[in-house]
Amino acid sequence: MSKQRRPARASLIWASASATAAPAYQPRVQGESVPGASTAIAEPATQEPTTRGLAKPGPTERTATARAPRMRPRPPAQVAGAAKRSARQTTRAVGAETMRGRVPGPNGLHPLTDLDGNARLQCYEDRVKAAFDRIVPVLKQISALQHESDFEQHAQSIARAELGFDLPEHMLADAWVTQLDLRRLFAWCVFETYRRMADDFFANDPLGGREVHAFDRFIQDCGFHQLDVTPCADGRLAHAISYVLRLPFGAVRRKPYAGGLFDVENTVSKWGEVELGRFREGVPNTADAPTRYLKTVIYHYSSVDPHHQGCAAHGSNDAAAAQAALDRLLAFRQSVENGFCCGASVALLLIGMDTDTDAIRAHVPDGEGRMDLTQSVDAIKVYAITRDLEPTAARARVAELVKAHAPATADPGMLRLVARLIENNLSQIDYVRQVHGGRYADAGHAERFVGVGIGFEEIQLRNLTYFAYLYTVEEGAADLDVGRKIFGGLNVSRGLPIPIVIRFDYHGGVPGARERAATRCRRLDAALADRFADLDDRGLLHRLLVVRDSDAGTGIEVVGSSLDAQMSGGH
Ligand SMILES: [Zn+2]
Repeated sequence: MSKQRRPARASLIWASASATAAPAYQPRVQGESVPGASTAIAEPATQEPTTRGLAKPGPTERTATARAPRMRPRPPAQVAGAAKRSARQTTRAVGAETMRGRVPGPNGLHPLTDLDGNARLQCYEDRVKAAFDRIVPVLKQISALQHESDFEQHAQSIARAELGFDLPEHMLADAWVTQLDLRRLFAWCVFETYRRMADDFFANDPLGGREVHAFDRFIQDCGFHQLDVTPCADGRLAHAISYVLRLPFGAVRRKPYAGGLFDVENTVSKWGEVELGRFREGVPNTADAPTRYLKTVIYHYSSVDPHHQGCAAHGSNDAAAAQAALDRLLAFRQSVENGFCCGASVALLLIGMDTDTDAIRAHVPDGEGRMDLTQSVDAIKVYAITRDLEPTAARARVAELVKAHAPATADPGMLRLVARLIENNLSQIDYVRQVHGGRYADAGHAERFVGVGIGFEEIQLRNLTYFAYLYTVEEGAADLDVGRKIFGGLNVSRGLPIPIVIRFDYHGGVPGARERAATRCRRLDAALADRFADLDDRGLLHRLLVVRDSDAGTGIEVVGSSLDAQMSGGH
């Protein structure tokens, strides 16, 4: 019997169950409703009546009628700032009502696509990204008014109406005598938008990711008691759990690393923690249950521009990315077996992901856990083969195709899990087809801010955040320099600062942990200001310092900011 995860295991992205109704994990077919989806779908962001869309036709085989019949216009306020970030805005509305009633067939969606899930996910993605993308147009509008007599009142009313919050009065107060400091104001707005997004995420569980029971039961039935996933830290994979694989994030340990090259020692330590939990507390199941810890890496590639938009950590060499991830997986298994005798072993799974279409390929291991990089089951092909079948037949065919593309000795539980992941991915393939015309317009980077430190459970969206997971600037220097280069193009070239959220999660049950996390934030802040002094001196680098008690399952706590007059004086 599956037991509820205890909050103490919220060490990484674990969280206690939320009271919010979450969608059931089980895959759905057309017409089935999702608990809690109706309220999300009612969000006005995706319900605007539309006439023209901005999305360019995607290079897919689908006809126009296969795409969402309604497309969302850009509100006038967003048009002004659209030139540089047009890729970020290129989405189409896919309300559930526009997708319901479709039948499987050449021009329809896949019969196993979760329509309500897609509508709910789009609603969330649109809402969050639009909140960030409104900032520049609104500041342009406000900037034009700064020498008017009632500037402060006028600016606040615009901010309230367009952004949903007031601007800090002291930043507006001196505008009549000096120039409005738009760089500081921009950074402040990005941080405030991030804070509000995080508060909403932890308070309302908008993705329903904390409903883990059904998934826990499912993976245990498949023979696994823990799913631990390392996607590449690239922002284009930040939605891998909640969108691409459609898994409840609360049930999956997500630990991104650049190039998928996870820390073996850290993972062995986590494995030990999980096994001890089984021995001591029977969580998530008792130690005598014949289940294994499953470690998965997601490497990535680009079908549109394979030589430039693949994994930067591997020079856009897909084969090298896959091989490096596989080597790291094998090193992890070897470490466990060497350290904990022959009876201790773990299961491994390697997944590839096309960052243009979100389609996955799975390299199913044989009975000995060996994986062949030339052998995989590709969701995009499974989609094409099964799209005209009835749901029940399609599901059976997916399972057959997974088995046919796996080694003969593959573990039946692994085959079941992979079939489920492929089936879940079919919904995401349709999501990208419907919302983004088949391939993302922002094939490259389009992140809104940089996230540095450890944590960031609330980031479940593609291309929202560039991550650098690190404890010290020294250990993450390479990732930080890449981040600087990316944001040099995205922000600095437009005169905008690079907004960095410095974040450390801590265990509230450990005495002194909060203070240590806050100290770590401050140390990292000083090191970043020092490393990028040329930007900092010109007001082109701003930081928000944030900690979070991962045991309590509560939201983030802001402990400082470079926008804080007191704090900037301290450096
Ligand atoms: Zn990568």
